[in-house]
Amino acid sequence: MAKGRVLLRGVTKCFGAVDVIKGVDLEIAPGELTVFVGPSGCGKSTLLRLVSGLELPTRGSIMIGDRDVTLVHPSERGIAMVFQSYALYPHMSVAENMGFGLKIAGLPKPLIKEKVAKAAEILQLTPLLDRKPRALSGGQRQRVAIGRCIVREPEVFLFDEPLSNLDAALRGQMRVEIARLHAKLGATMIYVTHDQVEAMTLATRIVVLNAGRIEQIGAPIDLYRHPANLFVAGFIGSPR
Ligand code: ADP
Ligand code: MG
Repeated sequence: MAKGRVLLRGVTKCFGAVDVIKGVDLEIAPGELTVFVGPSGCGKSTLLRLVSGLELPTRGSIMIGDRDVTLVHPSERGIAMVFQSYALYPHMSVAENMGFGLKIAGLPKPLIKEKVAKAAEILQLTPLLDRKPRALSGGQRQRVAIGRCIVREPEVFLFDEPLSNLDAALRGQMRVEIARLHAKLGATMIYVTHDQVEAMTLATRIVVLNAGRIEQIGAPIDLYRHPANLFVAGFIGSPR
């Protein structure tokens, strides 16, 4: 039993005749913040959706902890996903938005309140719990979206370009918050971005993707110093 471990073996995904993911092998240790980086269209979102169980692999296997994600119900996969567009329910307060998933799952009200309060504290949303989304800034809304994930206490957090709709200053600030969140929760996180700076500053390990294949896996500094090829060198930005 390896809670929070993610294991991909020979994962291939075809849409019609097109191979979008081409035989990916990857092991992510519990507690790592792994960043999938690569140009637009290289398959980052598809790979993340495969890990989440939203897409089924054409071939290969995907394990989270000791569960095969293709075989278990979505609610039992132990994942929570933060998207680029973080639709909040406009008529619900911050607290109601954060607790909605738990309410649907049938948790008792006092327990929901406790979990929401705890997540709000971590995200510094406590003073905003009664507000409606329209009375929040973009960054605050994104924090609520992350809060919705935290309350579910997933084994693995999945982020798909969560900051790409924010302006540059806010992106920098949220980057720091996500790093802080990772340090605080110690949970496994997979973070997708096409932004090299985001990858370099956030990652425990970077997975460089190109046209559905892994070009290189390594710590940011290792990729920077020893890029495996010109693609990685060009993408990570180290001159050689
Ligand atoms: P990224 O997130 O790196 O920009 P994606 O994973 O979204 O890339 O897409 C990778 C490739 O797969 C793209 O060429 C895209 O058009 C294609 N693709 C993604 N989803 C589908 C789908 N549901 N049906 C057909 N093609 C898809
Ligand atoms: Mg994408």
